[in-house]
Amino acid sequence: MPWRFLFVGGIGNHKKGISMGHKTFAKGIHPEYHKDAASSRIEKAALPKTVIIPLSQHAGAPCAPLVKKGDVVVEGQKIGDASAFVSSPVHASISGKVKDIELAEHPAGVRGMAIIIEGDGVVKDWTAKGAPVDPSTLAPEAIREVIREAGIVGMGGAGFPTSVKLAPPKGRAIDTVLLNGCECEPYLTADHRIMVEQAEKVVWGLRCIMKAVGAGAGLIGIEENKPDAIEAIKKAVGSAMNIKTVILEAKYPQGAEKMLIKAALNRKVPVGKLPLDVGVVVNNVGTAVAVFEAVNLGKPLIERVVTISGEAVREPKNLMVRVGATFEDVLAQCGSIKGNGDVRVLNGGPMMGIAQSTLTVPVIKGTSGITALPVKDARPLKYSPCIKCAACVEGCPMSLMPYRLGEYGRAMRVDDFNSWAGMSCIECGCCSYVCPAKRPLVQWIRIAKLKGRQQAAKAAAASK
Ligand code: SF4
Ligand code: SF4
Repeated sequence: MPWRFLFVGGIGNHKKGISMGHKTFAKGIHPEYHKDAASSRIEKAALPKTVIIPLSQHAGAPCAPLVKKGDVVVEGQKIGDASAFVSSPVHASISGKVKDIELAEHPAGVRGMAIIIEGDGVVKDWTAKGAPVDPSTLAPEAIREVIREAGIVGMGGAGFPTSVKLAPPKGRAIDTVLLNGCECEPYLTADHRIMVEQAEKVVWGLRCIMKAVGAGAGLIGIEENKPDAIEAIKKAVGSAMNIKTVILEAKYPQGAEKMLIKAALNRKVPVGKLPLDVGVVVNNVGTAVAVFEAVNLGKPLIERVVTISGEAVREPKNLMVRVGATFEDVLAQCGSIKGNGDVRVLNGGPMMGIAQSTLTVPVIKGTSGITALPVKDARPLKYSPCIKCAACVEGCPMSLMPYRLGEYGRAMRVDDFNSWAGMSCIECGCCSYVCPAKRPLVQWIRIAKLKGRQQAAKAAAASK
């Protein structure tokens, strides 16, 4: 069973920063970023021979298969869907034959049903046949429908279906779309390279999302440590009056939605509320590119940029990878991993990533990075009693009491946990990172949140 990773490698001074006085949120930490290793241009990964397409790669209802064993599928074909509002279809990322539909390991650390496709080597041409359409000519409903059918979900990791995010309930006006170009997780540089190399598509995607929600303003938030991305995006925005680039302090977790909204717009999302409650929709820059490709090329979300990095990777890279390619396959294209099995591989970065128990798990729509670290830098630590230093309180961007929430989580005191607003924890891991007693606070908190959700679901079912 994979366990939540506790980052202990290359710990920096969490108060240390490189800020030039740019906008930010209160609290947070400054880990060492290790971004130089994989700072190169995006390369195309080799076409995988086999892909594993999980039927659940998103928040909400899992898909049901639309194909059966032995069916021939073409690249981009919808192979799974659900009728639930909060869900997102999945597509064949390669052409070939359905080898099986079976339980498979998932990078989230659970097993789930997946469609296995054996490739035939045929590659579809998705290049544009003309200039991009003018987003102002598109109807909001039509944009949402294309986004839904393309299976686009938040590509920063959360996997929330984008079409749902762009359909706020009646009476909730959205005035601003905020694109997240922070990429504050150490090691990851995929979004950085997307902004440098695909700035025009990012800005087009932003315009399209603004049209979909009827927002008059667009913002692109980028941390100060990505000057080339800031320059490329500013150039792509040009003289547009309704879109602005906001330079933010490099600080973790600057890319968390609530932190980003506070930093860029000085709006506070109240506890238990969503960005749309303060008139904002937040999307990742990679999601904006996926919107561009869906609308202009008819291309569903079948591949994405993944950063492969970490001290245990021989040749760190940014690769454009087909959804469903295994971690093993992807790592093999980066000179494979160093060490004799004493390596920890994570889906994502070291702060919020999930350690994997096998490398046969597939890249999914939300896989922004594969980080491989020597076990000595990535092991669960022996913890000691709390010394009441309050470092965790000082670091918590949600202004919670992590030492208390951790204790309630450890003791399974869910009522106490809830009464101290534990459910509003964003699981950023800042508290665990700064704790001198090495207490696994975020791990305990996650357990309490899970338990709380289970209890709430049980109560709801009983009341029905
Ligand atoms: S309590 Fe939650 S939000 Fe606060 S620092 Fe810990 S993980 Fe982050
Ligand atoms: S940082 Fe660790 S030791 Fe300090 S108060 Fe929080 S839990 Fe206790």
